[in-house]
Amino acid sequence: MSDPTVLISEADVQRRVGELAAEISRDYDGMGEITLIAVLKGAFIFLADLSRRLAVPRRIEFMALSSYEDGSTHSGAVRLVMDLRESIEGRHVLVVEDIVDTGRTLHYLIELLRTREPASVRTCALVRKKDRHEVEVAIDYLGFDIPDVWVVGYGLDYDEQHRALPYIGVVEPEGA
Ligand code: 5GP
Repeated sequence: MSDPTVLISEADVQRRVGELAAEISRDYDGMGEITLIAVLKGAFIFLADLSRRLAVPRRIEFMALSSYEDGSTHSGAVRLVMDLRESIEGRHVLVVEDIVDTGRTLHYLIELLRTREPASVRTCALVRKKDRHEVEVAIDYLGFDIPDVWVVGYGLDYDEQHRALPYIGVVEPEGA
């Protein structure tokens, strides 16, 4: 596989993460502690950078989700692979996602979290493939809109490769 080509540079990613952190810090100022829930695995680097730049008190939780697949096709259903360790009842929750594609994963997660009676639920996503969206889901804080390409880097992988790249790049799968 050839090296990824740069779609969003490291400088642009860092600048935008800083802007998002400033916006979130402003919005949650005076509201007490917020609970950041990152969706594994892809959001781990975004969460690390974002959380370090927030000026409001926060705690960190992780969840893992995966799409059901039957061989080569996606059924679109989402499965909970790893749940929270603590209750979020009465807490201000901010879901931190790496990428929103069809929107199914984020939609599933928000519906699930709402049943647990948090004080509020908002969403923050680094990138969104706008043209791919199938399920209506509100993104309160969005980094970038991107075209329908497979992106890697800054936590995102292609077959577990490229997660550590500091930029967001595009890979051409073998044989494409
Ligand atoms: P959904 O379609 O439910 O919005 O997104 C499902 C999941 O597919 C995302 O959370 C992400 O893990 C994965 N995904 C979708 N598009 C890409 C992409 O371009 N690159 C990577 N690395 N993962 C993606």
